[in-house]
Amino acid sequence: MTLLIIGFDGATFDLIRPWAAEGYMPHLAALMRDGVTADLASTLPPVTSPAWPTFMTGVNPGKHGVFDFIQHRGEDFSIVNSTLIRQPTIWRRLSDAGFRVGVLNVPVTYPPQEVNGFMVTDILSPRNATISHPADLIERYETELGPYRVSPNVQYKPGNEAEFIADIYDLIDHHGQWALKLMEAEPVDVLMVHFIAMDIAKHALWRFMDHSHERYEDSPYEHAIRDGYARVDTWIGRLMDRLPPGSTTIAMSDHGFGPLKNMVNLNVFFMEHGLMKLKPDAMTQLKAWAFRNGITPSSAYRMIARLGLQNSIARVSKKARNDVVGKFLSFDSVDWNRTIAYSMGHVGQVYLNRVGREPHGIVTDAEYDQRLVEVSDALADLRDEGGQPILTKLIRGKDVYHGPYAGLGPDLHLELDHYAMIACPLFATEGRVMTSQIRGDSGCHRREGIFIAKGMGIQSGIELPEANILDLAPTILHLLGEPVPRIMDGRVLTEALVDPAPVRFSENAEEGVAAGSGFDADDAAQIEERLRGLGYL
Ligand SMILES: [Zn+2]
Repeated sequence: MTLLIIGFDGATFDLIRPWAAEGYMPHLAALMRDGVTADLASTLPPVTSPAWPTFMTGVNPGKHGVFDFIQHRGEDFSIVNSTLIRQPTIWRRLSDAGFRVGVLNVPVTYPPQEVNGFMVTDILSPRNATISHPADLIERYETELGPYRVSPNVQYKPGNEAEFIADIYDLIDHHGQWALKLMEAEPVDVLMVHFIAMDIAKHALWRFMDHSHERYEDSPYEHAIRDGYARVDTWIGRLMDRLPPGSTTIAMSDHGFGPLKNMVNLNVFFMEHGLMKLKPDAMTQLKAWAFRNGITPSSAYRMIARLGLQNSIARVSKKARNDVVGKFLSFDSVDWNRTIAYSMGHVGQVYLNRVGREPHGIVTDAEYDQRLVEVSDALADLRDEGGQPILTKLIRGKDVYHGPYAGLGPDLHLELDHYAMIACPLFATEGRVMTSQIRGDSGCHRREGIFIAKGMGIQSGIELPEANILDLAPTILHLLGEPVPRIMDGRVLTEALVDPAPVRFSENAEEGVAAGSGFDADDAAQIEERLRGLGYL
């Protein structure tokens, strides 16, 4: 073993530094003290599913083609998977160079790749699917370790904290036990172990630990996040204990984390500003009227229940009921022939309805810049309920993405109240622009993730002024004595290395990887439901 990479999803130095200083995270504290640290700038948007493919390929989403958990196609969307990453990952490149690699739980690795070593896939894997390479890898150890879990078994709902937290801790231990077992039984040169659990926990539980949160509540679960971090730290220690002398360890996250205040229904904002129009048919207009007046699918159902009519509804299947209420007002209600802009994705991604991209696009290339200015000017007027502006940054997609797929990404990235506000990921939750978060979430992503490295070839006790998630693939290849493909957008973090050798480059032999197909309808529905349960969608 020469390199251990710990993927700590959503980890932030804002939590790690104080807890390391107080002794709750002795192993990360030692790594930070004796190694190199840096804030790790995430992708735009700072979301798990573009960030890990960016880490794995060293190229920006414009070259690898994954921009979010979902890939939009106007009113329709699909869930992403590893076959949609259009550049070779470092697992492929290292395998081809003769390294044995082991990859555990890293997001957007399903379906698993045939690496030289092993791979167990991630939270975006369907149930009952083959989640490992080799295909029988899980069978070899599940009698001892139990069936493999890619995700939590308990969805968070306010009130079920004890059960939710116990399950989150169990998921951490489960991933740690599998990592330790595979580290011993299936030796590799490069092992990456990813822990997803604390990302999920922070979305749900942030307000219980943050006394300055506007929804702070005195709670017996105040320290649940800290104790979860400590648990991950314990596993990091156990894994590092088994490293042979001369190894290197990297701990990293895909984005940071912070408090979440409100959610913004950007599509409602676009409707109010005439940038999105609804279909003129009577049913859509009736739904729109109800929607504007605060009648949402759930309130409609409550009303029906109050009228005592729920029994007649209960007789129809749950699916039929969901179809009725779920399609109350949605992207299906949008008149795409008269719509200029729409939002899809939960950080604040805005798309223009472009000719040639969206199925019913109306914004031509010739008017693109002018429309972008119009939409940007309108968005500058986004305000919270107290009338304060909430748009803290507006970034054009073409300023952050480049490559053959850049045009598939959002045209605008919104930073709302320094990322303390997010957008409704799909159509809208209700008729108001400013609204409260679905599911009661109180934490959400930030741009700054973590980078910590220690061991052979790594400097000691220094903090880098900057690093980007794009830089890790080239840095890892260089550290292992491999050339850096010129197509990679990041740079080797030479200032982190002891006596760095000159960086060697290689031409990219291939233009990219042909995109495979997405999920079939059943798998997609299943994963969509899981993502909704986690508050990711
Ligand atoms: Zn993440």
